[in-house]
Amino acid sequence: MNSFKEHAKNFAEIFLHFLWPVSCPVCGRPAEIICPECAKKFFADEIINKKIESLEIFSAAWYHTSINKLISDFKYSGYRALCRPIGQAMANFFEKPKVDRLVPVPLHLKSDRKYNQALELAKGLSDVWKIEIFDDAEWSRIMPRRAGLEAAERMKLKSDSFIIPKNIHGLNVAIVDDVCTTGMTLLRFSQACETSGAYVRGAYTLATVSEY
Ligand SMILES: [Zn+2]
Repeated sequence: MNSFKEHAKNFAEIFLHFLWPVSCPVCGRPAEIICPECAKKFFADEIINKKIESLEIFSAAWYHTSINKLISDFKYSGYRALCRPIGQAMANFFEKPKVDRLVPVPLHLKSDRKYNQALELAKGLSDVWKIEIFDDAEWSRIMPRRAGLEAAERMKLKSDSFIIPKNIHGLNVAIVDDVCTTGMTLLRFSQACETSGAYVRGAYTLATVSEY
């Protein structure tokens, strides 16, 4: 019986792979972009919690681990489809916040990426948490790509670097981004949301840099 089941499962997997030729980059299982269980292997043992001024930041993984490879894959190699299942794994890792909207940090105007990885992660969080996404925020000016931005420059980042439409007014929100480096982008973005009348209840990132 078990062996029959196993065969049926293998057959189903081969069939799925034929229809949808992708496989999990971790375990190689066909028809999975990445299994949520595999995504979780990159996470720290416990939620990483930082506080910058009044903003609480929750992260799932340390940046300088094998998650780094995964992040660069989905940021620069266009593995857009990886973000959503990773976001779903994040949602199961964190405690669900009591908020009305998830607000991804917008993609830089100058970015050469075709999609916003923070938004793609937010979609995964939204799938599990059933919280709507607020994706109307924008950068107000052209900024250099964050990867090349020096820490000192980040410190100078002002909350008026963002345009947050007023329809965020009165909402409880959680901010979403892929990586927390100095936390300054998250802090300024949260202040911009608050200036537009939102109540920021924390920020959620996939990874965080340990020292800065
Ligand atoms: Zn897998």
